[in-house]
Amino acid sequence: MIEAHDPIVAPATASGGAIAVIRISGDGALSVCDKVFRGRAPLTNAAGYTVHFGRILDGERVVDESLATVFRAPHSYTGEDSVELSCHGSAYIVSEILRLLLAAGTRMADPGEFTIRAYLAGKLDLSQAEAVADLVASSSRTSHTLAMNQMRGGYSEALDALRDELLTLASLLELELDFSEEEVEFADRERLRTLMKQICERIERLRGSFALGNALKEGVPVAIVGAPNVGKSTLLNRLLNEERAMVSEIAGTTRDVIEAHANIDGVVFRFLDTAGIRATDDKLEQMGIERTMSSIERANIVIYLLDATAPSYAAPALRDNQTPPAAPVDFTLHDGQTLLTVINKIDLAPAFPIPAGAIGLSALSGAGIDALRTALRASVDTSALYHGDTVVSNSRHYEALTAAGEALHAALASLSDDLPADLLSEEVREVIRRIGAITGRGAIASDEILHNIFAKFCIGK
Ligand code: GDP
Repeated sequence: MIEAHDPIVAPATASGGAIAVIRISGDGALSVCDKVFRGRAPLTNAAGYTVHFGRILDGERVVDESLATVFRAPHSYTGEDSVELSCHGSAYIVSEILRLLLAAGTRMADPGEFTIRAYLAGKLDLSQAEAVADLVASSSRTSHTLAMNQMRGGYSEALDALRDELLTLASLLELELDFSEEEVEFADRERLRTLMKQICERIERLRGSFALGNALKEGVPVAIVGAPNVGKSTLLNRLLNEERAMVSEIAGTTRDVIEAHANIDGVVFRFLDTAGIRATDDKLEQMGIERTMSSIERANIVIYLLDATAPSYAAPALRDNQTPPAAPVDFTLHDGQTLLTVINKIDLAPAFPIPAGAIGLSALSGAGIDALRTALRASVDTSALYHGDTVVSNSRHYEALTAAGEALHAALASLSDDLPADLLSEEVREVIRRIGAITGRGAIASDEILHNIFAKFCIGK
């Protein structure tokens, strides 16, 4: 990645607001703005962190009255001289100002280019830069907290601590090489093993947190299953109506996949195979049981819906022993999945004995729905987020941690096989590289990685 400092420009706000912000950053950003912005004094004379009132001029014509906020290198987001022009939010005004700034010697910024510059200037590391994108996209209290924790660097500190310990290990091993004639062991092999095992455990813990992190970021996957007519789609609509629901058609591989999200007490839940739930019974049969099974497979929470009025009530056993089975006979759950047994249509069968652990409700009237919402929210343990634990939510980090864990296992095996120090240190170095890839510290990340990360940014960030 070539370090460029030429002046770039981009609108930083979405169109439609009363005020729009246009960002300019790079060498000569202030003098470029002076060609377009006329205040009481030139911006080139202005101190950092100052705001100036002035006019945007196209020759003699006044395009807008605006405010210019001046940042002086290195005390800006990008580390460069920067200006933020706050103008009136008309699409016409914004495009006119952009046109004037481009003519004055700037170029349009690529997506994420301001943040790439911030990264290259050492203002934030890669995981923090990724957190900026997550923050801009955050849609709930928990996904916001995740992004905020990561952006404030708690994450990077945890990884740097791991890297430092490994670096100490590698250098002790490499020290032995300098004294190879003398057969000394600076790195006590038992201590090495203990330390490597501890680091293994920490990497495992970080990897383990991804299930929560990913669920909070993408929405906790929930499957609603049950026989036709038990009220699955009524329940889904009820849950979506009670909450600020987001329903969107997703164009792509499966034409009729509809994603439905509901935010319950700060956590976004994602209802799987909503199209399947909404389909008529005919269609449901066509689609077969496979799709249901696949959504059960992918769900963190399975809502198993039963009908209190159905004569063929699926679980007479429920009534006998008063406890719902861990999983109904026709599907099995894997570790970490939560089953919520829900008995619907209690409005029609008010005397129905709800077994312990199950929830009775009426999807149609809404009675009892609060208990289900509370149970859904309680199924997601977010305490780690608020106790300073590191929660991994980025799949690139998860993959890097997985690779680091594998490399560490290989190094542990070599240690058991009594491999010489030079080979061992090379394996430890591999683990260091894998962990370093997450924050981009230790080595500048490759162009390909940078491209993948920053291409997802919006223009102006
Ligand atoms: P699905 O096939 O499982 O998606 O079931 P539906 O949601 O389409 O519901 C089947 C029928 O049961 C519809 O006529 C609903 O209005 C009705 N229904 C659903 N929930 C309730 C409820 O709680 N009480 C009553 N009385 N009827 C319900």
